[in-house]
Amino acid sequence: MEPNTHQFGLQDGLALATSYLDDPSDVVCPQCGPDKIEVLAYLDSEAFGRKELRPAPPEDRYTVILWCHGCRRMAALDLSRAGAR
Ligand SMILES: [Zn+2]
Repeated sequence: MEPNTHQFGLQDGLALATSYLDDPSDVVCPQCGPDKIEVLAYLDSEAFGRKELRPAPPEDRYTVILWCHGCRRMAALDLSRAGAR
């Protein structure tokens, strides 16, 4: 599977995922710091893999779409595997 980021690099994407899993309500942008990231949507991971945008509850297998108001980048983090471990 491709790295699960659109515009953030892999390194920043991993930092975002770590921060999200740490505290979903306070995701820290690796470039801009806290209070910049907004959660735009939770999507079904399997559907997202097929390029379908299907909303899903943030439970087992989902992709979270994050948007940074600071650097205006978007990140799509597939958190399915985090939960599968
Ligand atoms: Zn940022």
